[in-house]
Amino acid sequence: MGILIVDDSKDSRDLLKTFLKGAGYKDITTAASAQEAFEALGVNGADHRHKIPFKVILMDGVMPEMNGIEACRVIKADAHLADIPVIMVTAMGEQESLNEAFEAGATDYITKPVKKIELLARVRSVLRLHQEMERRKVREKELIETLKQLSEANRVLTLLSAQDGLTGLANRRHFDENFSAEWRRAMRDRQPLSVVMADIDHFKLYNDHYGHQGGDTCLRQVAAVIGQVARRPGDIAARYGGEEFVLILPDTPLEGGMRIAEEAAAAVRALRLPHEKSSAAPYVTLSMGVACMVPDRSKEMKELIERADRALYAAKRQGRNRVKAAAEE
Ligand code: GH3
Ligand code: MG
Ligand code: MG
Repeated sequence: MGILIVDDSKDSRDLLKTFLKGAGYKDITTAASAQEAFEALGVNGADHRHKIPFKVILMDGVMPEMNGIEACRVIKADAHLADIPVIMVTAMGEQESLNEAFEAGATDYITKPVKKIELLARVRSVLRLHQEMERRKVREKELIETLKQLSEANRVLTLLSAQDGLTGLANRRHFDENFSAEWRRAMRDRQPLSVVMADIDHFKLYNDHYGHQGGDTCLRQVAAVIGQVARRPGDIAARYGGEEFVLILPDTPLEGGMRIAEEAAAAVRALRLPHEKSSAAPYVTLSMGVACMVPDRSKEMKELIERADRALYAAKRQGRNRVKAAAEE
C-alpha cells in the first residue's frame, strides 16, 4: 500500500513517516512540494503504469509555490488519480480553508501538530473506504457484464421462441415454419389447405383514440378469440404483423375456412369492444380474407397467402367488418 507524504517541511515529513513506519506501513514516498508530488504520481503524464500506485496521499495545506488545496485540485482533475483519497494536513489556524479543501476533493483532514493515534486512525479509515470503493467498482463491472449476458440470452431466446410476446399466439417465425410444413403435407396427402388472413378495422384510429396501451389490450383480447376458433389439432393461429392475424387450417376446404372466419368475426364482434372512431361499427371488428388450395408442384406456397391477402383487401374496400373468399383463379 503506497502512501505519499507531501510537505515542504522535512521535520513534518519525517514525523509522519516515522509514525506510519512504526505502525507497519512500508511503501512510503515523500515529496517536498506539489511539483515533486506530481512527478511521483505522474500527473498528466502519458504513462501512469510505471508509477507507484498510491492508496492515500497526506497533503500539507500550506506550501510555497503551489499550496496543498491547489495540488489536491490538480490531482483530482487527473482521471487516473482522481480516486486516490487525499487527507489534508493543516495547522490549527487554517481551519477556515477546509471548506475549500473539501471542494477541491479532499477526503479528510488532520490538524498539526499531528498526533500519532489520530494519524493512524484517519489513514486506516480512509484506506478502508478506498478498498470498499474498489471492491464496489469490481462488483459493478461484474454486474454490467452479467446484464450484458442476460440481454444477449434474452435476444436469443426471443429469436428461438415460437410465441408472440404480446398476444401469446404463435409468432411470425413459427407461422412461416409451420406453413411450409403444412403445405408439403397437404401436397403429399392431396388435401385442401385453407388460410385466413384477418386484420383489425381502423386500428390506427383505435390507437390514436384509446392510446397504445389500450391498443395492446385490444390486440390481446382479439388474439384470444382468434386462438379459440382454431381448435383442431393441426390448426395454427398466429400473429402475422402488427394487427394482422393468420390462421392455417389443414384438411379444410374453402367453405370450412369461411365458416371458421365468420365464427372468429362474430366472436370478436361479440366482445363489443368500443371503437368510437371506426366507420365500420361502433365496436372493434375484423376484415378477413379466406383462400384455399390443394397444393401441387405447379403451385407456389406464397400464392395461397397472396390470395387470402387480396380477399382481405377486397373486404376492406367493400366497407370492412366482413369476410371475403378469394376469387377462383
Ligand atoms: P384498416 O381498417 O384499413 O386496416 O386500417 P388500420 O388503421 O387498422 O390499418 P393500418 O395498417 O393503417 O394501421 C395499423 C395500425 O396498427 C398501426 C399501428 O398504430 C397499430 N399497431 C400495429 N402493431 C401494434 C401493436 O403491437 N400494438 C398497438 N397498440 N398497435 C399496433
Ligand atoms: Mg387494420
Ligand atoms: Mg394492417
